[in-house]
Amino acid sequence: MKKVAIIGAGTMGNGIAHVFAMNGYKVSLVDVSSERLEQAMETIDKNLWRMVAKEKIDEKVKTEAIENIDTFTEISEAVSDVDLIVEAATENLDLKLSIFKQMDKFSKDDCILASNTSSISITKIASVTEHPENVIGMHFMNPVPVMKLVEVIKGYHTSDAVTKTIMQLSKDLSKVPTEVNDYPGFVANRILMPMINEAIYTLFEGVAGVEEIDTVMKLGMAHPMGPLQLADFIGLDVCLAILNVLHEGLGNPKYAPCPLLVNMVTAKNLGRKSGEGFYKYSEGSKDMVVSPSFA
Ligand code: NAD
Repeated sequence: MKKVAIIGAGTMGNGIAHVFAMNGYKVSLVDVSSERLEQAMETIDKNLWRMVAKEKIDEKVKTEAIENIDTFTEISEAVSDVDLIVEAATENLDLKLSIFKQMDKFSKDDCILASNTSSISITKIASVTEHPENVIGMHFMNPVPVMKLVEVIKGYHTSDAVTKTIMQLSKDLSKVPTEVNDYPGFVANRILMPMINEAIYTLFEGVAGVEEIDTVMKLGMAHPMGPLQLADFIGLDVCLAILNVLHEGLGNPKYAPCPLLVNMVTAKNLGRKSGEGFYKYSEGSKDMVVSPSFA
């Protein structure tokens, strides 16, 4: 496998392109927005320079990685000669089904079609393709160049050969793959999201404030980030969407999203990306927490 295509050049897509390109793969990076493609190339360039500065890669690897990436605005022009396509477009079922139909139509018959979805059923996505045995989940974590885990999700029809290929490929990218079956939230979000939801309920019911809840989990449970800060980092809209998938898919009221989370998303306080969630974020800084905005 030498050539891959990545669909979606947002937060995850640019990280996935970065990792493949740095490991010598030719990458076709596709987004409907040419502005997002430009931003993605700038981000990849900046992040590769950061790795050079930290002496994780040398300048030659950085230069070659950038040369390995071509950008496209049409799926049809980018996928005909690739061995693997990783879809990392916006988390929306209808959009993903339409993208997978195109991926299926314009790629080779034996091309592996992977999705980076956080919560949408791989089996459902596979059902709109001609070769559901070639469809698999490849769930990278954010930020992709840093985080080691790839949750590899086997759909109902995913073949063992495709799973084996993706497990080995993830290792070749210096990641640690973990194989899981296709049920709502897979493993990562089935466990993480109820914890985040419970932290929001703890705040909603006035048990403790934002900083107190995060401090308990950071210092008491050795979590690198508190659950409310992590929710801000992921995006509160994303957390809400995943909880809805768990709630609907598993039919258990324990997954019902906290009304405070619903309210905050309706009010467009989405976390770091909108400048305010459980914390406020200073202008121009992506990660600095200035002060809790909710108590
Ligand atoms: P994002 O909003 O940053 O990027 C999505 C990109 O998809 C945008 O650039 C958008 O222009 C593009 N897009 C939309 N429609 C398209 C189309 N038809 N063809 C090509 N590109 C299209 O989103 P993200 O955070 O990068 O998430 C992408 C996927 O990764 C989602 O499925 C999400 O659930 C999953 N994911 C996200 C995270 C995270 O922490 N953000 C972690 C793991 C998985």
